[in-house]
Amino acid sequence: MKAFEDPDTMRETEQHKIIILTAPSGAGKTTIKTRLLAAMAELLSFSVSATTRKIRGGETDGVDYIFIAEEQFKEKIDKDQFVEWQMVYPGMYYGTTVDEMKRIWSEGKTPLLDIDVKGALNVKKMFGERVLTIFIEPPSIEILQQRLMSRGTESAEHIHTRISKAKEEMEYRNSFDKVIMNDDLERATNEVKEIIAKFLG
Ligand code: 5GP
Repeated sequence: MKAFEDPDTMRETEQHKIIILTAPSGAGKTTIKTRLLAAMAELLSFSVSATTRKIRGGETDGVDYIFIAEEQFKEKIDKDQFVEWQMVYPGMYYGTTVDEMKRIWSEGKTPLLDIDVKGALNVKKMFGERVLTIFIEPPSIEILQQRLMSRGTESAEHIHTRISKAKEEMEYRNSFDKVIMNDDLERATNEVKEIIAKFLG
């Protein structure tokens, strides 16, 4: 956080914006994010977080996340290299790096963050009006559970953890700038696109 307290960095970043997509796991946020990035490639760039969780099949290091060991992650915390970080699931750390924000801003684009509810609220608190927080709401917890099971990437235990967390996260839905119900992917994506276009002017 220190890097953002530096007066020169603050001045330089005053006009820069941040867009955050947040949602309970399985709400369809990743699909919406992929579509947004394709449709708004000139405006948005995905902010690649660092994480200590294991890489999944189909993921690429440096593209989906920067996969690092817990020791490295803690070193980054000590060096104030994160804008925000959370232990999203027990023993699994995730964090948005200062370098990634700066890299994207220096390209003249707006970072698109895919982070958990607590991380989203923290970034909003830090950057206020310059941040747009969008909460993607699943139609129901039952549908969320079905989606997680059909994804086939998680063990039963992990699905259980994710569902409990989803229930907790749903309680924060009113704390975000916009809430989009994802009962229809096409409609939800278009709504998010319109909101972003308006925010970016
Ligand atoms: P997954 O393990 O399914 O990729 O992600 C789990 C959760 O961690 C998702 O809700 C995702 O949005 C969140 N997440 C990913 N990167 C970050 C980050 O840098 N900070 C925070 N606070 N949450 C993150």
